[in-house]
Amino acid sequence: MLNSGELFAQAQQVIPGGVNSPVRAYNAVGIGPRFVDSARGSHVYDVEGRDYIDFVQSWGPMILGHGYPDIIEAVTDQLKRGTSFGAPTVLETQAAQRVVECVPNIDMVRFVSSGTEAVMSAIRLARGYTGREKIIKFEGNYHGHSDALLVAAGSGLATLGIPSTPGVTAGAAADTVIVPYNDLDAVRAAFQAHADAVAALIVEPVAGNMGVVPPADGFLPGLRALCDEFGALLIFDEVICGFRLALGGAQEYFGMTGDAGPDLTTLGKIIGGGFPVGAFGGRREIMERLAPVGPVYQAGTLSGNPIAMAAGIAAMDALRSPGTYEELTRKGEKIARGLRAAADAAGVQVYGTQVGSMTTLFFCEGPVTDWGTASMADTVRYAAWFRAMLDRGYWLAPSQYEACFASLAQTDAELDAFISDAHEVMRELAAGGAGAGAAGAGAGV
Ligand SMILES: *Cc1c(COP(=O)(O)O)cnc(C)c1O
Repeated sequence: MLNSGELFAQAQQVIPGGVNSPVRAYNAVGIGPRFVDSARGSHVYDVEGRDYIDFVQSWGPMILGHGYPDIIEAVTDQLKRGTSFGAPTVLETQAAQRVVECVPNIDMVRFVSSGTEAVMSAIRLARGYTGREKIIKFEGNYHGHSDALLVAAGSGLATLGIPSTPGVTAGAAADTVIVPYNDLDAVRAAFQAHADAVAALIVEPVAGNMGVVPPADGFLPGLRALCDEFGALLIFDEVICGFRLALGGAQEYFGMTGDAGPDLTTLGKIIGGGFPVGAFGGRREIMERLAPVGPVYQAGTLSGNPIAMAAGIAAMDALRSPGTYEELTRKGEKIARGLRAAADAAGVQVYGTQVGSMTTLFFCEGPVTDWGTASMADTVRYAAWFRAMLDRGYWLAPSQYEACFASLAQTDAELDAFISDAHEVMRELAAGGAGAGAAGAGAGV
């Protein structure tokens, strides 16, 4: 059996950078990636048989843990009945009913195959509905890799030090207006500068792609008011926080529903139960502008794929059991409090953020409120922290600018061990130990 370093070398021959999504290459943490063999519950196992507690959860989807029995059963059943038909199935209606029941401001929903596709389609729909062209987005918010949105777009680009990307035309980027997160004055100024031209404002209601950055008090309601004043649609990109902060996502969590909530919402990650799914939904009169009822075209050969729908239904049903979100928040608080205490005890400067089960430990003084303050974090120190925790069996995100997630599968004993190991690693960091030399040693692993 080849080790991760050998497998990575092979992959790099046939896949650019050896990966199918850039952050997986571990560029920001100075070592090569560990190849995964399998995962179960809260555990991930690499090809060398090492066992890790999972705080990445496939970047969010695996909130129930890996190999969740109801999902396996639903998928196995459906596999025998067929894997793709390109024709309607009752599974699509059942999945849509769950989304409509759970997410307050979704009257109708359409499924696609990724979060990128969901956001791209929601933006097209907003433009088609309003007859306007400009989009306002926030610096450090990520909305997938479609051209118009790949500007000042958070973690993946930040991790690789790419400010924006070749291949996006000036035309595609010209209709995207960038403003700092949590800055309502800047949003107002952007609306004023593009009066009657803004189709939609899109926001991660809790930013998760520059590390977790919560919305300041009044920020989200302020966005709603500005969108109303200037006749633009408000889009909540809940691809991470949908079904993670609450069944109804951030809009439920912050009580932003009905007229006080978003016009359109995008979802992804968790709603696929570990399969490729995205969705966008919102007010009926807007959604009915989509083809075939309306003129705004949007389509997908594998959209609403029966396997993915079966998995998503099982995942959403499992999350509906009582106490789910209390447990997730309790674990999120435990992680955030534990890591902060470990850093404080060792005298390592950190700024911790937490909303529900989403947390980030920024290696800086803080407060972190936007991309400008997030980018002050010491990413070299984060890398040292990451490597030392990986060595002790914790699967953290290989970048400062990502979330550390609590899951339903993690046990309290595992979290206690995690925090206790964090104390040890913080002491090493304070002493200048954990980083030195590890990058070189890890590179070939
Ligand atoms: C992950 C993510 C996306 C993109 O979803 P993909 O499935 O990776 O295309 C969009 N928006 C947010 C907020 C995300 O976190």
